[in-house]
Amino acid sequence: MSEHRILNGKVVIATHNPGKLVEMRELLEPFGIEAVSAGEFSLAEPDETGTMFCENAAIKAQAAASASGLPAFADDSGLCVNALDGAPGLFSARWAGPSKDFAAAMARIAHELDRRGATERRGHFVSALVIAWPDGHLETFEGRVFGEIVPPRGTLGFGYDPLFLPEGHHRTFGEMSSEEKHGVDWQTGAALSHRARAFVLLAEACLRRV
Ligand code: IMP
Repeated sequence: MSEHRILNGKVVIATHNPGKLVEMRELLEPFGIEAVSAGEFSLAEPDETGTMFCENAAIKAQAAASASGLPAFADDSGLCVNALDGAPGLFSARWAGPSKDFAAAMARIAHELDRRGATERRGHFVSALVIAWPDGHLETFEGRVFGEIVPPRGTLGFGYDPLFLPEGHHRTFGEMSSEEKHGVDWQTGAALSHRARAFVLLAEACLRRV
């Protein structure tokens, strides 16, 4: 395996999702990295044609790195529900439709569970984080958080946060501040959310505290 490459200076965050952008900026902040969004660079959204989260993250990061000439950072993530055979999974964003209506997407999950008469409510979020450099070098990290699908509660966060109750917690992600949802403890390397878990691995490999 090749050596990890250290990221410094400026990075493009290859997402058009404002919720993810906020979370990635918060996570990068202690490392003195200047984070520019793909939107500010007017970069187009590439087609996510991969069959795995890490492939789609690599597609987004590589497209942004080659268009901007800067290292680019992308997340591909989703919610996998056991009783729905892992759906919506890679299609988590698409279940919300072009209007990005996550109330409708959450209602669809409840409807599909009812339709199958499912009593099993376990699921997990996955985040694959990729940093791509303009010369083609890639670094990939993955994080997961397991929990239960519950009737939506809370107005914080984004996407499917209100219906996800992480294991061992009493509040859904929709009821947690972003700091609580990240749950990062830099002393121990522990984290709560899927994105923060992937980010801790990435930070250990590729970032240095300023
Ligand atoms: P994509 O990675 O841009 O394809 O989109 C993944 C989709 O998964 C997002 O639009 C959200 O709907 C959902 N998702 C990913 N991470 C989270 C999270 O932390 N909270 C809630 N929903 C999430």
